[in-house]
Amino acid sequence: MSAGRSGDWAKHIVNPPIYRGSTHLHADCAALEEAKRHNRDGQFFYGRRGSPTQWALADALTRLEPGAFGTVLYPSGVAAISNALMSVLSPGDVLLVTDNAYDPSRGMATGLFKRYGIETRFFDPLDLDGFADRFCENTRAVLLEVPGSLTMEICDIPALAKITRDKGAVSLIDNTWATPLGFPALSHGCDITIMSLTKHVGGHSDLLMGSVSAANERHYRRLRLTAQQLGQHVSPDDAALALRGLRTMPLRLERTAETALAVARWLSKREEVAHVLCPMLPGSQGHELWKRDFSGGCGLFSFVLKGRSDAHRAALIDTLDLFGIGFSWGGYESLALPFDPVGMRTATPWPPAGCNEADKLGIRLAIGLEDPADLIADLERGFAAMEQV
Ligand SMILES: *Cc1c(COP(=O)(O)O)cnc(C)c1O
Repeated sequence: MSAGRSGDWAKHIVNPPIYRGSTHLHADCAALEEAKRHNRDGQFFYGRRGSPTQWALADALTRLEPGAFGTVLYPSGVAAISNALMSVLSPGDVLLVTDNAYDPSRGMATGLFKRYGIETRFFDPLDLDGFADRFCENTRAVLLEVPGSLTMEICDIPALAKITRDKGAVSLIDNTWATPLGFPALSHGCDITIMSLTKHVGGHSDLLMGSVSAANERHYRRLRLTAQQLGQHVSPDDAALALRGLRTMPLRLERTAETALAVARWLSKREEVAHVLCPMLPGSQGHELWKRDFSGGCGLFSFVLKGRSDAHRAALIDTLDLFGIGFSWGGYESLALPFDPVGMRTATPWPPAGCNEADKLGIRLAIGLEDPADLIADLERGFAAMEQV
């Protein structure tokens, strides 16, 4: 709980002060020279390199992540992903990306990175043999994500990370869903782990931020230098909010995971639902791997309607009172979002092999801190409204 409180001030006050400021002052020219030589957190230099407020957050995140050497902060989760990839990739390299990656991750790979001469190939994260075959001489990095975005597949991260290492490439993982509390990614073999702090760490839908933690000094130095060259900076006010969110994150994760499981169980018994995509639910895809590798979950999961049309789905979602309609997740209030994996994937089929072609309309739920019975009653009203269409 005291993570991030290593400064002198921590002897006197629970939370770090918010240090605003662009200019840092140096006592004399010799001190300025000394500051230039030490490019590290904890060294006053210039506002872009952060202040004790941002250093406290980075330090707390490093301590939260078993096996982490250091952490760099970014102004959003997407910035964390792009910077982490840019820190390891060069023109001519090949990047492997899991087919169920967060959509903006796909977009930066096939857009920006392509323009800079980096080739991206997508792979099916559930096909280990196929994965090994996707490597070529120039494959430099692999971007993993677990569970898969929207469709929530759990893959065998230790096995994928080991193959990546054996092939001489760097494994990066978007671990926003579980956080290191539910899945310590570096101790499961990944080299670099990424989080959108906007979600669970912030926890109150009032800030955007991202972090990247590296397993060794070499990766950390590259991350730090890349972020500095790209001018990345997070505000001290947002860092203080993120630190504040971090203190209650374990309780929020536990509570939202418990409620999500109750709602998922209820949905799995509904006649209108074809599949519940929730790794925490026994019998779901990936549940066994989740039990093996994860010590926790969170409130985010999806389900797929049995047949039905867009109008049915919209009626269900529009009727909900307790679920807002919007992007992001990890806040204290529940959200519902329609999604259509058809057309988003290139290496894996949707609906998955063996499933009914008509069952393809997805709804993602981000469960907040409301009473589970109230959420279930709200969904019950949604299903009733759907049947009126
Ligand atoms: C939201 C999200 C991101 C991006 O985070 P922002 O802070 O919104 O930029 C990245 N990865 C995953 C899995 C996310 O859910």
